[in-house]
Amino acid sequence: MKVDEYICMACNGACTSVCAQYCITVAGPHAVIDEECCIECGNCIKICPVGAIKEE
Ligand code: SF4
Ligand code: SF4
Repeated sequence: MKVDEYICMACNGACTSVCAQYCITVAGPHAVIDEECCIECGNCIKICPVGAIKEE
């Protein structure tokens, strides 16, 4: 999974709260996903209000 940094508005961590693996951090202007830790469950894609997270 990858965050489109031009779409992500660094909302209040909707994506971080649904990641059971704790792979997502919001530090600065956009969220970042640690791809080493991601198990591709898709939860973050579904919760992001602006569709900023995409499968790679
Ligand atoms: S796909 Fe699942 S494991 Fe990967 S970052 Fe999103 S919520 Fe976390
Ligand atoms: S839910 Fe979407 S807009 Fe909010 S921080 Fe995560 S990727 Fe960015």
